[in-house]
Amino acid sequence: MRHIAIIGSGPAGYYTAEAAQKQWGDDVSIDIFDMLPVPYGLIRFGVAPDHQSIKGVTRRYEQTALADNVRFVGNVKVGQDVSIPELQGLYDAVVLATGAPRDREIGVPGDHLRNVFGSAGFVGWYNGHPEFAALDPDLSGHTAVVIGMGNVALDVTRILAKTRDEFAGSDIVGHALDSLMTSNIRRIVVLGRRGPHQIMMTPKELGELGHLSRTAPRVDPDDLPELADDALLEPGIRKAVGHLRTFAAPPESDRADLPLQVEFDFFAAPRGLIGDGKVRAMSVERTRIEDGRAVGTGDFYEIRADLVVSCIGYQTSPIAGVPFDERAGRFANDEGRILPGLYCVGWARRGPSGTIGTNRPDGFGVVELIAQDFPAGGAKAGREGFDALAAERGLDVVSFSDWKKIEEAEQARARDDAPREKFVDVDDMIRATSLAD
Ligand code: NAP
Repeated sequence: MRHIAIIGSGPAGYYTAEAAQKQWGDDVSIDIFDMLPVPYGLIRFGVAPDHQSIKGVTRRYEQTALADNVRFVGNVKVGQDVSIPELQGLYDAVVLATGAPRDREIGVPGDHLRNVFGSAGFVGWYNGHPEFAALDPDLSGHTAVVIGMGNVALDVTRILAKTRDEFAGSDIVGHALDSLMTSNIRRIVVLGRRGPHQIMMTPKELGELGHLSRTAPRVDPDDLPELADDALLEPGIRKAVGHLRTFAAPPESDRADLPLQVEFDFFAAPRGLIGDGKVRAMSVERTRIEDGRAVGTGDFYEIRADLVVSCIGYQTSPIAGVPFDERAGRFANDEGRILPGLYCVGWARRGPSGTIGTNRPDGFGVVELIAQDFPAGGAKAGREGFDALAAERGLDVVSFSDWKKIEEAEQARARDDAPREKFVDVDDMIRATSLAD
């Protein structure tokens, strides 16, 4: 019997478990750890609350989770409650599927000012991550600046722009919905240091922005390259740039005077945040593209910024004793192998890129490596060994059936038009696990 510990219960974690089941059938025992009492990581806390169809992938993970040889081991902080060397002593293979939960830092003067957030915090706030539920962004100002031209910038812009009706069917947490419904923000500037041909946004997500009831997004036609140049782009980005071209054309008359302005500001690099305690403006430098890179032109200007959300990518959280590639912001690894017996998958392996499905081949790849390194199962204690350690330390481990009770309680307390109202406090989650069967 092989014993595998997977750290992190997001997409990469569950795809790895699925791959291990396919590879070894009943001859493997898999424990999936999570620091929170609830599973699914990015799906619960990263995917936008109004993208419920994407969240439907958890039904697939649940099939994996319900197999006898797979366990969810929630509410256990690896690196704190139990160390990596301890897990290596108990399991043949330890797979880090911890994602990339930390923001890449914007690193400009003034980034410590109040009402300046990274996307990890801001997205965590509207998605009810216990660490960020109390973020309480101040939405009383006029202008929000969203930095970055990726899909997270689009998520944040859309969430700031939507009306109450447009949140129907979403699982945005109550505290965020209440706050957004009293928001005074009338202008959102989406800031990109490079140009329209260098966006990371995907067509479906960008197109969605063109169908909101409160805004008709605007692009300055002068920022767009010659139409003929679009032919050189690969099809996905060409389609996305097509949406930008639509946003550059005058809106239809019935969409010309909508109450919220969403403006794309290209060739614009943030250089500093200005304010007295709280942010009030951003200093921006015009850029031009040289060899694909944004280079400052020396032309500076200021834009109003009452709220700033920087959506410029993520990094993995280091774990003491595990080799870390600081520059890339992920574990140091060779195709997923950190060293024989210790592996990483998903964003913890390759950085924050790709779709949720990209993590599936990753999971299968790491299982191949484990099979190469351990052609036969070892004589490790596996889950029984962990249970003894957990009992000795008095850990309050949350199982998958406990999670199902939390899920049921969240569904029971949902608004009429929402699938669930998430608990945002770990103690409330734990309390829900003791509800009667
Ligand atoms: P991303 O796609 O890598 O985009 C990051 C953006 O930040 C880029 O436009 C980048 O510009 C910019 N940036 C980086 N450093 C900067 C700096 N110092 N100053 C100004 N701008 C800077 O990252 P993401 O939006 O966080 O998304 C992460 C992954 O999740 C992506 O694969 C994304 O597609 C995926 N995702 C998908 C969905 C969906 O499918 N619905 C939703 C959310 C996220 P440069 O290009 O110039 O570096």
